[in-house]
Amino acid sequence: MSLPSPVHPMPSVLRALVLPLVGELPPPVLALLRDYRLLVNEILREALTSGKTARGSLSRFARDRAFVHQLTGGHAVAAAAIGLGLAKAHRRRLRKHLDSRVPFVRLPFLRTGTDTFHLDRDSGKVRLSLRYGEWSHFFLHLAPFHRDRLAAPDTRVKQLHVTPDRVVLYLERPAPTPYIPTRLLALDTNESTLDGVALSRKSTHAVRVPFPEVRTIQATHVARRRKLARKKATDRRVGRRLLDREGRRERNRVRSRLHVLTRHLIHEAVRNRAALALEDFSKLARRRRGPFSRRFGTIRPGPPGSPRRVLRRRLSSWPRGELHRQLTYKAAEHGVPIYWVNPFRTSTICPKCGVYAGPRSRVGPKFVCANPSCGWSLDRQLNAGANLGRIVLRDHGRAELGGLRLDLDALSEEAMRPRYPFEQIERARAERREREGSNRPPGATRGVG
Ligand SMILES: [Zn+2]
Repeated sequence: MSLPSPVHPMPSVLRALVLPLVGELPPPVLALLRDYRLLVNEILREALTSGKTARGSLSRFARDRAFVHQLTGGHAVAAAAIGLGLAKAHRRRLRKHLDSRVPFVRLPFLRTGTDTFHLDRDSGKVRLSLRYGEWSHFFLHLAPFHRDRLAAPDTRVKQLHVTPDRVVLYLERPAPTPYIPTRLLALDTNESTLDGVALSRKSTHAVRVPFPEVRTIQATHVARRRKLARKKATDRRVGRRLLDREGRRERNRVRSRLHVLTRHLIHEAVRNRAALALEDFSKLARRRRGPFSRRFGTIRPGPPGSPRRVLRRRLSSWPRGELHRQLTYKAAEHGVPIYWVNPFRTSTICPKCGVYAGPRSRVGPKFVCANPSCGWSLDRQLNAGANLGRIVLRDHGRAELGGLRLDLDALSEEAMRPRYPFEQIERARAERREREGSNRPPGATRGVG
């Protein structure tokens, strides 16, 4: 059997750790951050005015300016890479006729490679090279979680990013080779559920992972932002700041819920040696372009407050990108193979006979096959998941997922009660319920002995 070949292979896994400082940064380090910001801005201006795009052509300039600021060559190289990156992104935006202001770094910062700093993994002490022969140090607060990450085998500290109030450490470790899957979990991503099929050699199950909290959080925040905007309508500056804060809170809350979900899902995949099949939304975006194109086709704006507007807002704030981003990097970290499927027509094709059921608008909550002699029908979202599974088996089945098959008849019987794929969690919950039940005072329990 050949090794699985996920579409997005990752040779190494990068992880960022955001670490709080113990106390404040010493004054020489703060001075370094200010000088570094200046250097990056100078390099950025040089790159934009001279039109230089190659790292080599700018490094000479970077070194000269670093010498003036009395920074080391190591800092100059890192600053040149950052300046070039910012200039490149700006040019790309201009090329695509997107809004772009000339970039300028406002806040002092430092990003540097391993040749200019040293982290002591026990004490959290960071020694940092300021200038030639001149060092300073500060301490980071390392929580048990951070220590675990740092102690993981083959982990290398790759980069350090310092701002006056926090430090980000970039870790790199070789990605584990994806395991050979014995099961497949094909999941269609919907607004508040992941739906699809779990396939093993022996069985086909319908599965559903609900995450209704995300939609609730978003609805709460929309209402809150409305209220704020009304209250602060006459003070744009304060209003803006409060609204930004609301947005940040909402994003953090949604993100944290998704982290819980994706962590469970990946652990469950590892435990069952399952591969994941997900929709590759980038393929869809390339096919249909324009401000109104979303997965549900073109939704025109409509008047404010109209159901269409509401639907549009809900879909554009739908965090499917974040969900897939988390699944992608967590899968790479744990060696879970992911198959990315082009979602074209996965929700409108019959998995049994392959007949196209027409544009999506005509498909209700239940998918019904357009072919009268076929008679297939299934919950629309589960049907899309079944199609993802079918496509993966068609393209990779023989070589990589040997022996797995999609039993559609079992699926249509099962679909009445889609399962939660986290058996372990379900079991733990049941056990807890039982334990709590047995701890009740006598009389409340039934059938003791
Ligand atoms: Zn059919």
